[in-house]
Amino acid sequence: MLQIDRLAIYINAIRKLKEGDFSISFPDEMTDNAFIDFESELLQLATWLEVRFTEFSKLQEISTEICQGSLLDDVLERIYNTFKQVIPFDRIGCALISNDQQIVKAHWAKTDQPEKIKLAHGYTSPLAGSSLESILHSQQPRILNDLSEYLVAHPNSKSTQLIVAEGIQSSLTCPLIADAQPIGFLFFSSRQKNTYLDAHQRIFIHIARQISILIEKSRLYQHIYELNKQLLDAMQLLKEQSCRDALTQIFHRGAIMEFMQQSLNSGIRKKHPVSVIMADLDHFKTINDTFGHGMGDTVLKSVSHTMTAQLRNCDCVGRYGGEEFLIVLGDTDAASAMLVAERIRHAIAALQFEHPSGNLTITISMGISCSDNKNETKGENTLLLQADSALYRAKHEGRNRVSIG
Ligand code: GH3
Ligand code: MG
Ligand code: MG
Repeated sequence: MLQIDRLAIYINAIRKLKEGDFSISFPDEMTDNAFIDFESELLQLATWLEVRFTEFSKLQEISTEICQGSLLDDVLERIYNTFKQVIPFDRIGCALISNDQQIVKAHWAKTDQPEKIKLAHGYTSPLAGSSLESILHSQQPRILNDLSEYLVAHPNSKSTQLIVAEGIQSSLTCPLIADAQPIGFLFFSSRQKNTYLDAHQRIFIHIARQISILIEKSRLYQHIYELNKQLLDAMQLLKEQSCRDALTQIFHRGAIMEFMQQSLNSGIRKKHPVSVIMADLDHFKTINDTFGHGMGDTVLKSVSHTMTAQLRNCDCVGRYGGEEFLIVLGDTDAASAMLVAERIRHAIAALQFEHPSGNLTITISMGISCSDNKNETKGENTLLLQADSALYRAKHEGRNRVSIG
């Protein structure tokens, strides 16, 4: 074949390489050593390009996938699921460096044998003077391909003791550096000795910057997310507390009145009866006078607790005044309210309070009123007045009883 024809074959091969087709070959006809060498170099270049191209495509895929994570643990989970294509491992761990750069703290680890994890979340060690610190300085991943041997040379390395006890024999420790600031480490590890090659180091270096920035971002996001959650929880608690009576922890007067209004509105909409019970402890003043105010408070707390325990979740009791309570029962007619009131009356009468000057019991009187929401719709004031006068009657008739208004 003419050399000029051979040149055309080479141009064709180079074009294929440019287009990402690495399957080039040459007819086996050249005898000239210079051409044979040239073709051999070209074939090696094609193989090299193919390896890098595949690696690059996989890293692209990995970084697209990892970028979709927002919280730190989500990002780490995605690293675990995608990195297997390019770096072998049986376990991945992530440790983070404290803001003052003093401490390294194990944050996360995942393996297919989670029961074996010994180097777990929360394990800390000082950064200064450690081998991890030198990895940060070198900014290069470190390969240890025989951890048992490393442990013999460094018998006091607690983290190596733990990881070897997990059955790990090789590790690739990758520093995470975002915006020139060390943030932590990713540890790829394997149960086999001699797992890690320079190629794995190189692969990580290619993607190290992206991974580090992403981990740092997701860590900040996670921090903000957790602060936000704490704030929401605190706000919720505050909201709940603001409805509660400080002594008894049941609804205070304003909250139980609002609850009654809502129950009445819902009763009107659904044509359901709503009952209210006005309850007042009998001769409570005598308890304060005889046993002291502290005992009076204990009784109030205990009575509140007992009432709550006797109600359905959808019903509610509130402290209406000093030793007066208002109970609101949705979808409950007067007869059913009577049963509830009697149940509460008995439960309270059964309470026993111990005091050095003698044990005491307490009774309660109650008045019921019901808005049937079918034939009549009582306003909240009418309902309360009726319950109050029924209570007055119960007191008048001898206390420790229930009257219907
Ligand atoms: P009756 O059977 O007629 O209801 O008699 P009573 O003694 O229960 O009623 P009275 O209204 O005369 O007294 C209520 C007492 O409740 C007076 C008040 O000091 C007491 N009290 C109100 N709030 C509290 C409190 O938070 N703690 C304590 N220990 N006592 C309270
Ligand atoms: Mg009373
Ligand atoms: Mg009273």
